[in-house]
Amino acid sequence: MNTLKKYAFWFVVGSQDLYGKKTLDQVAEHAQVMVDGFNADPAIPCTVVFKPVVRNSNEIYDVIQAANQDADCAGIITWMHTFSPSKMWIRGLKALQKPLLHVNTQFNRDIPWGQIDMDFMNLNQSAHGDREHGFILTRMRIPQKAIAGYWEDGKFRARMASWMRAAVGAYESRRLRVLRISDNMREVAVTEGDKVEAHIQFGWQVDHYGVQDIITKVEQVTEAEIDAQMAEYTELYDLATDDLAAVRYQAQEEVAIKKFLENGQFGAFHTNFQDLQSLKQLPGLASQDLMRQGYGFAGEGDWKTAAMVRIMKLMAADQTAGTSFMEDYTYHMEPGNGMNMGAHMLEVCPTLAGEKAKIKVVPLGIGDRQPPARLTFKAATGPAILASLIDMGDRFRLIVNEVVCQEQTHDMPNLPVAAVLWKPLPDLETSAEAWMYAGGAHHSVLSYSLTVEEMRDWAEIMQIEFIHIGAHTDINELRKELTWNDIIWKLK
Ligand code: MN
Repeated sequence: MNTLKKYAFWFVVGSQDLYGKKTLDQVAEHAQVMVDGFNADPAIPCTVVFKPVVRNSNEIYDVIQAANQDADCAGIITWMHTFSPSKMWIRGLKALQKPLLHVNTQFNRDIPWGQIDMDFMNLNQSAHGDREHGFILTRMRIPQKAIAGYWEDGKFRARMASWMRAAVGAYESRRLRVLRISDNMREVAVTEGDKVEAHIQFGWQVDHYGVQDIITKVEQVTEAEIDAQMAEYTELYDLATDDLAAVRYQAQEEVAIKKFLENGQFGAFHTNFQDLQSLKQLPGLASQDLMRQGYGFAGEGDWKTAAMVRIMKLMAADQTAGTSFMEDYTYHMEPGNGMNMGAHMLEVCPTLAGEKAKIKVVPLGIGDRQPPARLTFKAATGPAILASLIDMGDRFRLIVNEVVCQEQTHDMPNLPVAAVLWKPLPDLETSAEAWMYAGGAHHSVLSYSLTVEEMRDWAEIMQIEFIHIGAHTDINELRKELTWNDIIWKLK
């Protein structure tokens, strides 16, 4: 099973010398117990690292600079067990380059009514110390997340875990390289965007290669490599075709693209069916199986969605529920039972499958090439999110809609692609109107693993606009939010 344990979060506890050694020793002891508790809990996906209690401006600056420099550190968690005057924090916080979570918790859960005295109050005063800390974070406009609650409580830890996933997404975003195979689909607007701005804002290095560069690699794949890839396919999927040559060609494409991704340390890629040159098939099964392995993918030159698929897959790398490239396709407009059916011409990730996926070979009208092999399946059911990143010209906006994936009770014998049927919140019409007012794309990322809060936290860390469409959504209120946001983001 994959794990997120390689990502470290430094637990930095603030205090000051005023309290004396005995109290400071107790603060450190308590912090160590808490760190051990977090690390022993499977609900906390990443590693929490205990750091010595910081008592003054130099110690705070030093620990923050060390965190900035540490390649494994994905974020800092601050907590004020006692009172740590915040002017001490200004120099360090000005240098902060890592995501910051401020936990407002307390070592003891209950007030010890019979024993409480001033010594106890001076040790357990996060109600007071964390407010001073919250002020300076807010005063300095530090992107932050605040979570209040008792540190042993399941809800508190689940929220910590969520924020960690967002910080993992930011960590991986800043290291991401996206392989563009060809350019965007001609004349399509929403898949375009400012790649230099994306590099500055998200850290994405988005590089183009010609289709011929891939074709050269495809031609170099050996029969033995195709055999090995075919063995993987037949282990993972049901072979529901006699056209083995077509499936072998997808295997050949997958081996070639994977080598290209590995050699260039790319985490995501896109194709473009309009520019296949002498490729015999649009990569279908190949793209689907690469997504299964954690690579980001999107069709038609959509590098933004390909990058988001990669980042969201890594945020949920320890989860079994799926995350995939998705496209809104067809509505079911039955009164009271409105649904949206998502799919793509081929490339839906098999991690969404609610059954063993089948390999089929069916002609594809679009693209003008040989019938491509692809995976088909009925998708799993349950709550999920759809996320779409768009370029507003002066900023990026992330739109997330909560949906509930439905059981596919009807067979669709003539539909040769994997499809997902969902009911968007609050309802089909409101969701669709909200999505369109917000400018959401027809391409998105569907994830059964991630939550709105995780994506909101990611957007906060990346400092981009976030729009949530859910049960609460009222169109007129949303339109006001969008209008106000336009003005606010122009001022930023
Ligand atoms: Mn598409």
